[in-house]
Amino acid sequence: MRRADEMAVSRLRAFEERCRQKGLPVTVQRRTILEEVLRRDDHPTADDVYEAVRARLPQLSRTTVYRVLETFVYMGLVRRLRQTKAARFDRNIDRHHHLVCSRCGKVIDLEDRTLDQLPLPKRKLQGFIIEEFSVRFSGTCSDCQQPKE
Ligand SMILES: [Zn+2]
Ligand SMILES: [Zn+2]
Repeated sequence: MRRADEMAVSRLRAFEERCRQKGLPVTVQRRTILEEVLRRDDHPTADDVYEAVRARLPQLSRTTVYRVLETFVYMGLVRRLRQTKAARFDRNIDRHHHLVCSRCGKVIDLEDRTLDQLPLPKRKLQGFIIEEFSVRFSGTCSDCQQPKE
């Protein structure tokens, strides 16, 4: 199995386990939405997920997709990225960084051990306690560098 497939299988198992613990039913809706997010590495918005699964789940509304995604964030199954215009959801919950295209908004994962070890600021931060960090680079993706016809 590819690494992404293994990740999806173990995350789906964790999902079922946590639903059981919290007494939440494992619905087809929730499972389909989670599978969709785990399948993609493009950090989809709630709308992207909705568009991708609506054919399979005709009863589904955008609001439900948003609420289900928020539940997954709460359960620690996916992450929410806040630095982008619309909230995007990230299947990668390990430490990593992002390249964000300022033209099309594409978000690309960047794993970089050197960035992981950036020294944290030593001075006082107005009482703020840093729990984690990630670096976001903005620029132009390869698609947006192609001249438009
Ligand atoms: Zn772009
Ligand atoms: Zn990411």
